[in-house]
Amino acid sequence: MDFALSDEQRLFAETVRRFALQRLKPDYATWDRGEPFPRERVAELAQLGITGLRVPAEYGGADAHYVMLGIAAEELARGDFNYSLFVQLYSIGSELIGQHAREAVKRVWLPRLADGSALAAFGLTEPAAGSDAANLTTTAVRDGDEYVISGEKASITFAGYADACAVFARTGGEGAHGVSTFLVPLDAPGVTRQVYRSPGERLTQRGSLYFDQVRVPADHLLGAEGKGFYQAMGAFDYNRAVIALACVGAAEQSLDETIAYVKERQSFGRPLAKHEAVSFQLAEHLTLVEAARLLAYECLWKRDQGEPHTKEAAMAKWLGPKVAVDAIHACIWLHGHYGYNMDLPFEQRLRDAIGLEIGDGTPEIMKGIIAREVIGRDYMPYR
Ligand SMILES: Cc1cc2nc3c(=O)[nH]c(=O)nc-3n(C[C@H](O)[C@H](O)[C@H](O)COP(=O)(O)OP(=O)(O)OC[C@H]3O[C@@H](n4cnc5c(N)ncnc54)[C@H](O)[C@@H]3O)c2cc1C
Repeated sequence: MDFALSDEQRLFAETVRRFALQRLKPDYATWDRGEPFPRERVAELAQLGITGLRVPAEYGGADAHYVMLGIAAEELARGDFNYSLFVQLYSIGSELIGQHAREAVKRVWLPRLADGSALAAFGLTEPAAGSDAANLTTTAVRDGDEYVISGEKASITFAGYADACAVFARTGGEGAHGVSTFLVPLDAPGVTRQVYRSPGERLTQRGSLYFDQVRVPADHLLGAEGKGFYQAMGAFDYNRAVIALACVGAAEQSLDETIAYVKERQSFGRPLAKHEAVSFQLAEHLTLVEAARLLAYECLWKRDQGEPHTKEAAMAKWLGPKVAVDAIHACIWLHGHYGYNMDLPFEQRLRDAIGLEIGDGTPEIMKGIIAREVIGRDYMPYR
């Protein structure tokens, strides 16, 4: 067993952490207040190699190991939680296009993902189909050399300014087998957008994408018809660990800041940290956050080794956000009234992390997956 990061991974982690704390953290609250987020900022992620982590090398990316995605998400979230969503969406888009697109589509989109000049969203959820995504109703109908797509995709991260979206649509048949994936350029006629009033993750402009008879060339089908649902699940299988690490990063930063505070702040003639009730709380949260971190990295490491990791991904996905939310909540009250204040980043981190308790699958759905993997498909609660 070897728990150490390689020299390359350690250097990458140090570089990203420095960038997150020096460049991102000072503006974390700025985008939350609704100031427009300058797209040029994404170029900075590209310079660090982050947008191209999962783009194949021949299209300008790094073809990096999955563990690198986790490192990027964990370290960026220390400065600005929202940036960990860029890690997720760039890698998912790169994978779906890199593994399933026709050559002509790869040539257009992969270099643009690698250099950060374009962003692809992930369009699975619909107003009436979230946990039960296989029941989606958006349709894609073949018409000559095109498909015509109609429907609404709901709760889509970066809906406000993505340039394309991997849209999961029904091409025929019921349930998972009837779902196919299309890369839809979002400047196509018939696409409209609506950004939600989100409690957190505001930089990501989550919202709905509406497709009204949107025509895409037939070669924008990713892979074969009927494979879309499995492609989506393949993306979830590692992204859930990346989500866990983003939440862990926000919690680690909050705990670091709180440890510094309780060493300074005095009550009853001694630093807060000398009260056992304070230091033991921190000890508990540090333990749980570290456990979630190791589980998430184990999942990504297994993916890199080509080993099964669906169970670990689902475990990390419910545990990571939960322990992070609990830890950040404790950091608020360990700061007393100063913690319950928008001048400090804790309440924003809490709002941001809560979103990813839901995104990519709720704890209930994750526990169903773990039960299926361990106890068996015949005992699944929702079958
Ligand atoms: C911040 C954020 C970002 C997101 N980004 C994206 C994105 O980029 N792309 C995308 O496609 N989607 C995205 N989503 C949508 C997300 O994946 C769905 O919200 C999620 O899968 C849950 O679906 P739902 O909202 O329809 O809830 P529902 O399915 O309606 O569930 C509601 C509640 O019922 C519970 N429940 C449902 N079924 C069962 C069951 N069988 N057993 C026990 N409990 C059950 C759920 O756990 C939940 O608590 C995002 C969501 C959030 C909050």
